[in-house]
Amino acid sequence: MGRETQTEGKPSASFDTVAASAMMKELQAAYCSGTTRSYGWRISQLKCLLRLTEDHGEDIAQALRSDLSKPELESYVYEISMLKNSINLALKELKKWMLPEKAKTSLTTFPSSAEIVSEPLGVVLVISAWNYPFLLSLDPVIGAIAAGNAVVLKPSEIAPASSALLAKLMGEYMDGSAIRVVEGAVAETTALLEQKWDKICYTGNCRVGRIVMAAAAKHLTPVLLELGGKCPVVVDSNINLKVSCRRIIMGKWGCNNGQACISPDYIVTTKEYAPKLIDALKKELERFFGRDALESPDLSRIVNTNHFSRLTKLLDEDKVSVKVIYGGERDQSKLKIAPTILLDVPRDSLIMNEEIFGPLLPILTVDKLEDSFDIINSGMKPLAAYLFTSDNKFRERFVRNVSAGGLVVNDTAIHLAVPSLPFGGVGDSGMGAYHGKFSFDTFSHKKAVMYRGFIGDADIRYPPYTKTKVRL
Ligand code: NAD
Repeated sequence: MGRETQTEGKPSASFDTVAASAMMKELQAAYCSGTTRSYGWRISQLKCLLRLTEDHGEDIAQALRSDLSKPELESYVYEISMLKNSINLALKELKKWMLPEKAKTSLTTFPSSAEIVSEPLGVVLVISAWNYPFLLSLDPVIGAIAAGNAVVLKPSEIAPASSALLAKLMGEYMDGSAIRVVEGAVAETTALLEQKWDKICYTGNCRVGRIVMAAAAKHLTPVLLELGGKCPVVVDSNINLKVSCRRIIMGKWGCNNGQACISPDYIVTTKEYAPKLIDALKKELERFFGRDALESPDLSRIVNTNHFSRLTKLLDEDKVSVKVIYGGERDQSKLKIAPTILLDVPRDSLIMNEEIFGPLLPILTVDKLEDSFDIINSGMKPLAAYLFTSDNKFRERFVRNVSAGGLVVNDTAIHLAVPSLPFGGVGDSGMGAYHGKFSFDTFSHKKAVMYRGFIGDADIRYPPYTKTKVRL
């Protein structure tokens, strides 16, 4: 572990604070040379990244198979295609994004003009997570490059094949004087966090989010924290049941077998409607993954034994295990857990008090759907919340009352693919947002610039502050 990759593709033997500091100096020098600021450099690097993704789709899919047994279609749709779309959008829009934005001035400053100039922040760090190791690594890097920064990427050691491939390919394709990959785990990330960055983008869990923020605070470094949480799905009874179930299943089990930050974490529905919903979910699950879901090639495995044990512990808690109404099968040798539905687990159980991040889906029942607002709002603010309804009034109340990073009505997880929407959390699910132009903005400083000439130099602003001036 602990490899730094440069353009020549020669990894160093170890990566500690000394190595991190030396690398930082090189990157600062590259940034200060002005290279990364030019439109030409940004475009050329984005094109290199596009080529990397186009040339190595099969290698990427293979690494994802090795790390997560991720189905090929999921790899292409949710990682490779999304990255290509993101790069293509930046290539198309960058000139526009870089233009200064005119700002209004006031009578007090007349005559004057003003604009907001986007300038790069400097040298930025991207620390990414294992569940979508390519998307979560490269999507922020696209924003960092588009905004004209030098950037270091630290992929997750929990997805080692993806991390190694990212280091190798970035070394081969990108400008190593300003773009680096450092592989490694806690020690290497700690060494990186000791440096003074101009921004840190961290994707991962809240506990480490706090560590990152504390390290950043020492240098007054701003952070973009992309964290997780428990994403609720509220299900009304006036819906197209089949379509709703298919969309819930896709968001839950069709996204990395529940190992996604915006996967539905639990469902809330009425006591009356629950049996109908459960029957329909079971039917669609069987249609998607067969009778023996553990054998389905369309379900990712659990990433490692730690996460497998964490999930089975949630499931085996006495007061929870009796509530399993579908699934529950597991195969430790293959790290597979079948789609599992639980009904009315106690609110004080472990499973209802931590992010599940796996294929277990509790259903909570309430007397009236409005009760879901209290359930959601009494916990940590989720990264996403979902509602299935045909009732526009209830939809409005949901949008007004539920606080979450993002909301989707009548689907799940799909907002991730809309670059005109900011993607990010609120409260415990994170701070800041990216995607599309928001990525460019998050890695830019918005510099306020005012222009004046020498005419209209009103005497009133200068001493002596006479009584007449005060009255005016
Ligand atoms: P992870 O274990 O891959 O950790 C993320 C990064 O943190 C890695 O690069 C790792 O090396 C680093 N890290 C771990 N411990 C550290 C420490 N002590 N000090 C410094 N760095 C450290 O990923 P994870 O945390 O298991 O990811 C899952 C979590 O991430 C879930 O909570 C999920 O909801 C969240 N997530 C959020 C998003 C989002 O976009 N908001 C996306 C994916 C995952």
